[in-house]
Amino acid sequence: MSKRGVILEEDRLVMLDDVCDIKGRLVDSLDADKNLICKEKPNKCPKCSCEEISGVEVMGTYEGRLFWECNECDYAILRFEEYKTEEYLQLAKGLWTNPSDWGFVPKSEFN
Ligand SMILES: [Zn+2]
Repeated sequence: MSKRGVILEEDRLVMLDDVCDIKGRLVDSLDADKNLICKEKPNKCPKCSCEEISGVEVMGTYEGRLFWECNECDYAILRFEEYKTEEYLQLAKGLWTNPSDWGFVPKSEFN
């Protein structure tokens, strides 16, 4: 299975369109159980039980791992509640549509 994005040790840094269909609600295009939130890296994938899980950082969203992803089946496990994940993903959508405004929003703005 080929993976896109920059591999940072066990994490991946990806562009929004690597992980989301950029039409409609972004969080809906993640293959994930939206009610399952794991703040810490899960030991195994809830879908296929694979133990290889990566952190996924999406350019222009949360500075750090936004969600987890199974290396085997690409299943996503949220780190933040669904609405919060959508908010973060929408930040990257703004970047995507306004490439001249590329930059990172400081974490402090979300507290
Ligand atoms: Zn899996």
